[in-house]
Amino acid sequence: MQNSSKKVRVRFAPSPTGGLHLGGVRTVLYNYLFARKHKGDFILRIEDTDQTRFVKGAEQYIYDCLKWCGLEPDESTMHPGEYGPYRQSERKPLYKEYALQLIKDGHAYFAFDTPEELERMRSENKTEENPSPQYDAMFRMRMRNSLTLSAAETEALINAGTPYVIRIKIPQNETITFNDLIHHEVSFDASVVDDKVLLKADGMPTYHLAVVVDDFLMKITHAFRGEEWLSSAPVHILLWKYLFGLEHMPQWAHLPLILGPNGKLSKRDGAKFGFPVYAMNWTDPRTQEFTEGFREKGFLPEAFVNLLAMLGWNSGTEQEIFSIEELIENFSIERVHKSGAKFDYEKARWFNQEWIKRKTATSLLTSVKDLLSNNGLSVTDDAYLEKVIEMVKDRCTLISDFFEQSAYFFSAPATLDLEAVLTKWNESKTSFFQQLMASLQTNSSWNAAEIELVFKELAAKLNIKPGELQLPMRIMLVGGKFGPAVFEIAHTIGKEETISRIHYALNKINA
Ligand code: GLU
Repeated sequence: MQNSSKKVRVRFAPSPTGGLHLGGVRTVLYNYLFARKHKGDFILRIEDTDQTRFVKGAEQYIYDCLKWCGLEPDESTMHPGEYGPYRQSERKPLYKEYALQLIKDGHAYFAFDTPEELERMRSENKTEENPSPQYDAMFRMRMRNSLTLSAAETEALINAGTPYVIRIKIPQNETITFNDLIHHEVSFDASVVDDKVLLKADGMPTYHLAVVVDDFLMKITHAFRGEEWLSSAPVHILLWKYLFGLEHMPQWAHLPLILGPNGKLSKRDGAKFGFPVYAMNWTDPRTQEFTEGFREKGFLPEAFVNLLAMLGWNSGTEQEIFSIEELIENFSIERVHKSGAKFDYEKARWFNQEWIKRKTATSLLTSVKDLLSNNGLSVTDDAYLEKVIEMVKDRCTLISDFFEQSAYFFSAPATLDLEAVLTKWNESKTSFFQQLMASLQTNSSWNAAEIELVFKELAAKLNIKPGELQLPMRIMLVGGKFGPAVFEIAHTIGKEETISRIHYALNKINA
């Protein structure tokens, strides 16, 4: 269809009706990968023609998400290229001429029906076989439109300022066929489609007209979007055919749905199964309903992008961890699956864990520092924090885990999990820790191996198994039964702090 020598131009065309959820970001990602791979352009177009569904803040949220993911567009309302404006409401005046052209060519018509008349048509013609009659070939000739009225009557109505819409005249007995890059040959019987409104009474185009006109004017070569739009494709194909000629039409790719545990992934799944659905936290300003996002939950953008890439695509190899550069290199739309992709939260966490392992402590510094400071721990020594991150990162699945895993390096644990220790406590253990404090006090080199040696020699002298003393020592320093090697911890927090924590815990135990 499209000429392969043309520069690749793809678009993500969200309606600013809410936060961006998994499926939306995956559409962004596939667009982005394809554009980068083919040295093309990635365009962000805001489809805000349905003003009734407009949500304040949604557009900014989309930009913020793309920025966080590292998937920023080449052209957008923020960075306009030569095909602007990139917000459809600002393009309003240019759509009407296309609608009028369609009327002139016999592919569309003016319709003057009032909401009451439409309602009457639906209720009067409702049958068991046809429970929701549509404005289509079967009924259009019984309605008040420029097909049933004379040219003079139509003109008089328009001149009198009667509200009207422009509808597409869907042909009868026509099969609409096109080639989808994922679904291959797709055919629709045109009669399943109704005479969709193209231009509304307020002069705004509907999505159907605007998407086709803009894809044409913005020279889009490939249109990737969610499979939920497949049923709208016949209308778009007809508009392409009538307005611009099919040879200019972009190649379509309808991406598989992302499925939740019980079918199509919904916001409710997130609430029910405890996983985020949005890229970032989102509070719907209309309902004040809050949905948790991947970013705040503690996902790294690299991991989020990686797991999204794998939701519906595979590289054909065993490899699962891909950097964005590797994704660009390996991505191909032919390897996108036809069937729905099942989202598995445990697997998502696994991706994040793998990414934390792979990242350097330096590259994790800012996120961890923010996390700690949001939890009331201010870090002044970056080098020290880096050391801590290096020590605990293999124990963290989400960035948020870094708080529990590293807070005790900065301040003594607020609570000590002494239960496990108290049942097996005795006088000789108290004596061990008293002598340990004394020996450590005189220890000058303070490295992990040295501390371990002092510890073990003393245990041997008092005839206690070191294994029985290590857990109490850990709880004294950390507060719980977790963390890296205990002597490493002692070394890191320093001599004074180690002794002070042992001292404090010993008093508690003996109280
Ligand atoms: N505005 C549509 C949406 O909200 C765009 C669909 C398309 O890409 O054609 O998803």
